[in-house]
Amino acid sequence: MSTTDQTTEPVDDPRPGFTDGPDGGSVTGWRCTACRHPVAQLVLYCPVCRSPVAESAFAPTGEVWASTCLRVRVPGRTPPFAVAYLVLDDGPRVLVHTQGDHPQPPGSRARVTGVADTGDLVAEPEQEELS
Ligand SMILES: [Zn+2]
Repeated sequence: MSTTDQTTEPVDDPRPGFTDGPDGGSVTGWRCTACRHPVAQLVLYCPVCRSPVAESAFAPTGEVWASTCLRVRVPGRTPPFAVAYLVLDDGPRVLVHTQGDHPQPPGSRARVTGVADTGDLVAEPEQEELS
């Protein structure tokens, strides 16, 4: 019996995901079916009103709320490396890995571009449109 069934999708990862697309893709999470509260981690009920939540797609862009450089050893990462909490536009606050070891400043804009091998979201500074 195979333990690596190719047709079985992982269902127990509670972290938000990322779906790539021609329009820049979207972050996948959950949203309350009653009060529309966005949730970044899989929960059984809305933390605000206790109503059911449903899968939802959010914009990949947002504003950095906090960031830091981590110098601790964690599986799959070589310290030092930078992480940030990113408040997605009309979405939840998500933890993202950012480039290098220089934290992106709070208040700056960032865009989620994918998911790392470790399953964490990856973001980069959002390019300003100069026209
Ligand atoms: Zn709710």
